[in-house]
Amino acid sequence: MNTDIETPWTTEDSAQLYGIREWGAGYFDLSEQGDVTVNIRFDSGDVRVSLVEILSGIRERGVPLPVILRIENLLDSQLALLNESFNQAISACEYKGSYRGVFPVKVNQQCQVIEELAQFGERYNHGLEAGSKAELIIALSSLKPDGRLIICNGYKDEEFIDLALRAQRLGYHCVFVIETPTELPIIIERSKALNIKPKIGVRVKLSSKVTGLWNDTSGDRSIFGLTSNQLVDVLDRLKEHQMLDCLELLHYHLGSQIPNIRDIRNGVMEACRYYVNLVKEGASMGYLDLGGGLAVDYVGSKSCHVHSKNYSLDEYCTDVVEVVKSTLDAHEIAHPTIVTESGRATVAYSSMLLFNVLDVTHFEPAPLPKPFPVEVHELIGNLHEVLGSISPTDLQQCYNDAIYYREEIGELFKRGQIDLRDRSLAENVFLEILQRIKTELEQCQRIPHELEGLKEYLADIYYGNFSVFQSLPDIWAIDQVFPVMPLHRHREKPCREAIVADITCDCDGKIDNFIDTENQDVRSTLPLHPLKDDEDYVLGVFLVGAYQETLGDLHNLFGDTAVASVRISEDGSFDLVKELAGDSISDVLSYVEYQPQSILENFRRTAEKAVRQGTISAVERRELLDSFSDSLRGYTYYES
Ligand SMILES: *Cc1c(COP(=O)(O)O)cnc(C)c1O
Repeated sequence: MNTDIETPWTTEDSAQLYGIREWGAGYFDLSEQGDVTVNIRFDSGDVRVSLVEILSGIRERGVPLPVILRIENLLDSQLALLNESFNQAISACEYKGSYRGVFPVKVNQQCQVIEELAQFGERYNHGLEAGSKAELIIALSSLKPDGRLIICNGYKDEEFIDLALRAQRLGYHCVFVIETPTELPIIIERSKALNIKPKIGVRVKLSSKVTGLWNDTSGDRSIFGLTSNQLVDVLDRLKEHQMLDCLELLHYHLGSQIPNIRDIRNGVMEACRYYVNLVKEGASMGYLDLGGGLAVDYVGSKSCHVHSKNYSLDEYCTDVVEVVKSTLDAHEIAHPTIVTESGRATVAYSSMLLFNVLDVTHFEPAPLPKPFPVEVHELIGNLHEVLGSISPTDLQQCYNDAIYYREEIGELFKRGQIDLRDRSLAENVFLEILQRIKTELEQCQRIPHELEGLKEYLADIYYGNFSVFQSLPDIWAIDQVFPVMPLHRHREKPCREAIVADITCDCDGKIDNFIDTENQDVRSTLPLHPLKDDEDYVLGVFLVGAYQETLGDLHNLFGDTAVASVRISEDGSFDLVKELAGDSISDVLSYVEYQPQSILENFRRTAEKAVRQGTISAVERRELLDSFSDSLRGYTYYES
């Protein structure tokens, strides 16, 4: 393994290695000191702030690691970019309609995020999308009744419908998107009963299929949306009740993270056909809602890779506007207001998970005894001979022999024919062989198939103070790739290759998919620096603002991490605007129905009994109970 830290290494090398300028979208870069920086654009110019400084600022204020760091400016910036790109495309194409975005609450329901979006979205009339009663309640309480759209998707019962209808009286613009035929009769009945005219949309099932991780949402078999048959029924029913004028919106959603712009265009084209037909049927219309799908380039390759996208935001907006305009112009139909429900692209950039590394396991041999002992078991001697025979032309053979002898030596141990120290010696010889083969392979043009996994086999394991299941559930559920890199030391060459394990002790609790900038692909190990005794080594997982926070679960009872929201000012200073303590142990225990008070009481009784029996003293009892209640109040993660 290359441990030569003297190799000249610059922040430029690091920037390339981790691809920060590719996935960072201009928001992230490295400083000359070798720290990751966040860059914020102000009218007066760009401001760069070191994440290491922000982190030490929030740690001084008592926020522990792991922490989700949210930079509010990035949320604002993405929302502004989305709206301004659409506005630009609209004026460039001489489109007669306008753009109105909505943020789908399910993508990040955290109160701080929704509050920020509601506040910053005001200037753009940016609304919210609600997929359940709870989300509708969030939408109504965070927005003022100023006419911003509230798109109501999902299954809607009478209670949901009554609430949204009554809210309309206050001036809220709630649109019921009909996803299944059974919803319409309830909407008709309730609006007549309350004497409030409903605003209705229809969700159609497009036959356009998209590639990507989420393609189940598209195509004829997708679970959501009306078929053309069902849509005709809806139209007939509305006509019957003289309510065709209530139908104002057409909606579809092809799935999240669509990497290919062609799929996006095809979807818009097909949807426009439906729109034309609905207008011809006599519906008032006026809104065309394209759903979500605008992707984030997590790996920075600008490609059709499932974690990437082959288009820019400007291209997305221009394509959408052009397709809508040209299709509708051919039928002389007025240009609708274009609505999108972009969630992922709006919030992904603003949050990052920061955690410290607790420990490292190396797979490196201890130095072998010199001279090598002669009186060892014959098989150990044979293994040692393999070590002496390694040559560039013979790597495969040496590897096979080493594996063979190691297995045989394992058998000897099981039968009691060698002892623990012999086995340990053999293990060291074996690791030495693998390390030498690995070094030789670095000079090879072609790596033999069987040896491809060697690098992963020998990779270090860095143990991080976090839980994949709680904070990065998509890594476990769908093999999502997020950018991961150290926050600091980028003037030093990261000479170790590692995977990153969490502290849940679950074999799935690890990150072993990383960006491979060089090959525009994904790799299974990450270059990292050796730990230093006197310094926390802090890693950041970036672009985690979308979908991660509420999907997280309580695996091994690791709870919510702390959250710190920071706003950066034009002079480069920052304010900790909001902070949330993470869950305490007592919090997570109560989620699974324990009562912290009775837990303490049970333990107190056990301790009291021990005092009576003379096992511990009264003072020891007090110390024990103090530790117990301190633990109950403590953070669920490793505290230093
Ligand atoms: C999940 C979802 C979205 C958000 O999609 P993104 O790809 O995150 O923008 C939008 N609309 C509907 C109906 C959804 O279910």
